[in-house]
Amino acid sequence: MRSLRFSRYFFTRQAPYPIYLIFFVTSRCMGRCKHCFYWRQLNRAENVLEPVEVERIAKNMGPLLQVTLTGGEPLLREDLADLLKIFYRHNQPVNLGLATSGFFPERLESLAREVLASCPESQFTVGLPLEGVGKLNDEIRGVEGFFERTVESLDRLKKLKASFPQLTLLVDITVSRFNQDHLEETYLYARDHLKPDLINPILTRGDPQEKEALDFDPRKVEELLDLMEGDIRKGLIPGYGFFRDILHAKDILLRRLALDIFQTGEFRIPCTAGRLAGVIYPEGDLFPCELLRELIGSLREFNYDIRALWRSEAAGNLREKITETRCSCYHQCFLSPSLFFNVRSAPGLLSEWLAIKRGK
Ligand code: SF4
Repeated sequence: MRSLRFSRYFFTRQAPYPIYLIFFVTSRCMGRCKHCFYWRQLNRAENVLEPVEVERIAKNMGPLLQVTLTGGEPLLREDLADLLKIFYRHNQPVNLGLATSGFFPERLESLAREVLASCPESQFTVGLPLEGVGKLNDEIRGVEGFFERTVESLDRLKKLKASFPQLTLLVDITVSRFNQDHLEETYLYARDHLKPDLINPILTRGDPQEKEALDFDPRKVEELLDLMEGDIRKGLIPGYGFFRDILHAKDILLRRLALDIFQTGEFRIPCTAGRLAGVIYPEGDLFPCELLRELIGSLREFNYDIRALWRSEAAGNLREKITETRCSCYHQCFLSPSLFFNVRSAPGLLSEWLAIKRGK
């Protein structure tokens, strides 16, 4: 119910700091994913934000709807649990998120246990990638043995759910040229064997390491979406939280919208990046999103005052530019708040929600 405090942003669509925050905690990674859009930054020497600096940023914000820690591989940071707990302490996020490759099952289980025990009032969502079953997954991710490790991570986390119902498990399938002929197989494996709360197909975006990744057939994605939507309406995908069917409805609309933008390249919806959503990179650079390479400013240089940076001239100019150029992309992390905090989405959401209710 804490999410209701964000309802005013349905109308203003502008918050005094990013209420939907993505934080790249490191650029270190052992993966070599063919579809990775962050590959140019990976494994460079870095001077990451230390917990004491992160705490100063967190203290300068109020409540968060969502904060997701990602990378690189976030678990390569020994202080990851501290970072998550800092946001919990200062920002009471509705959803505390972690995007990890699942490469370190034991480390992940122990971190999840610590975070879940220390952050009981937030939903803790762990997203794990699955690009195919077995060898195909490892080929796409560029490391042998990845598949087994990710599956073990999920198994370990599933056991924790009995003691910590606020844990949500998400499997992300990044759609690319390399797995387009195996989407159904991958999805069914996730649905029937891994059994997470949500399965999320993501369209390869940005500037992938192997450009061919973007060259996938949208009709194959449509087939997958048809299958998934039927499953959601039959109640085969659990979802999570009090508003689970509304969130399912939003995801159905979101995936169709992303595919439409991928196919047409047309502007469909005003973007909330730089208004409600923002991205912090490992050294404290603040951006409106992951794709627009336009820096708002450095939090280190702004005395960690994210509110001041968010209302700076640079941030204002960038917001104006995003609006005036009708900036458009199909990056689902940013389409999500743009779609949700848009009153024009309400009829579509309602109709999808009713279809889900009728189907169950
Ligand atoms: S439309 Fe995409 S690229 Fe443009 S600001 Fe939004 S998230 Fe960034």
